[in-house]
Amino acid sequence: MNDASDKELNMETRVVHAGHPEPRIERAAVMPVFQCTVYEQKDDDASYFDVRYPRLNNLPGHAALARRLASLEGAEDALVCSSGMAAICTTLMTLLRDGGHLLVQDQLYGGTHSFLVKHLKSFGMDCDFISADDPGAWNSKLKPNTRAIYVETMTNPLLRVIDHRAIVDFAREHELVSVIDNTFATPVNFRPAEFGYDLSLHSATKYLNGHSDLVAGAVIGNAKHVGAVGSLLAILGGTLEPHGCFLLDRGIKTLVLRVRHQNANALVLTKHLEKHPAVACVNYPGLEKHPDHALARELFDGFSGMFSFELTGGTEAAKKCIKRLRLPIHGPSLGGPETLVTRPATSSHAGLTAQERKDLGIADGLIRVSVGIESVEDLIRDFDAAL
Ligand SMILES: *Cc1c(COP(=O)(O)O)cnc(C)c1O
Repeated sequence: MNDASDKELNMETRVVHAGHPEPRIERAAVMPVFQCTVYEQKDDDASYFDVRYPRLNNLPGHAALARRLASLEGAEDALVCSSGMAAICTTLMTLLRDGGHLLVQDQLYGGTHSFLVKHLKSFGMDCDFISADDPGAWNSKLKPNTRAIYVETMTNPLLRVIDHRAIVDFAREHELVSVIDNTFATPVNFRPAEFGYDLSLHSATKYLNGHSDLVAGAVIGNAKHVGAVGSLLAILGGTLEPHGCFLLDRGIKTLVLRVRHQNANALVLTKHLEKHPAVACVNYPGLEKHPDHALARELFDGFSGMFSFELTGGTEAAKKCIKRLRLPIHGPSLGGPETLVTRPATSSHAGLTAQERKDLGIADGLIRVSVGIESVEDLIRDFDAAL
């Protein structure tokens, strides 16, 4: 099965088979690793771009992954690269080249935020932040050179969900390229192309690889835009090396199993914590109390494996709880098989002042959880003991 557009097949099947070359290379069931930087030139007239070279993103492993990712999100094309930040920065530099302007959601992954506020201007590009809650104000931020609008599927760490249909409609109306960081949702829970997004970006370091042992990224979407990002990527050099392709190919085959299990674990665990007397609040779009629950139900196939919660005892209680948890690892990042806990005040949002965090609704005692694939009964017992 090598037809990435084969919509007859379910996602569970495509995540294993889509994009695999036919005939199979040396009849190998698994995509071989092309750990080689030199390839013989066909003849003297062959174009430079016809020659295989890992940085040019044209190894069989790159192509197989690209076809599979495009198939999973129902998009035309895709590419893999060396990190999520390589996907994000290369995409923004492609779209905003020659002095473009970007509208961007005000709550963002830290690395993306840093790139926009610390570096974008030095490249002659610019951006303005928009609030997802206030679509009426987006118009006033438009400039003649506004080229794109950039959002994340769910915010970190409060898991707020914006109306993605409104973003795409606004982008179409004003001829902007619509871009979304879909890392938290994965194609299992949300497929941006189906809602009309032009480009979907991933830190494949997280759920797509899913084993906490690889840094990689992906750009998925319209062939025209993915092609343009790919040309710049081949020059900037943020391409995925051959062994990384192998690891991502292996990791992604269990994506559907892992993410569905993580969705289910997170729902059971958050429903349990919500009722716990030591817990002040739980932020998870799967809970009826979450302000965006209805929207998340309409947009998503699952509510993700990410949630955050606060304790009635505040920061001191949070520190104690993290110390007492035996199964979850105290560490940043997300999307692996093991449950992770982190306090955003000391990790993802440590760069902000306490007041800035408070304005965003991020208490210093807030604990963020990336739920793993462990037994949820064991997780519940461990959280109960720690609380
Ligand atoms: C981790 C992450 C990134 C950056 O990805 P890297 O692979 O670390 O470069 C971007 N966006 C989101 C939402 C992330 O969680």
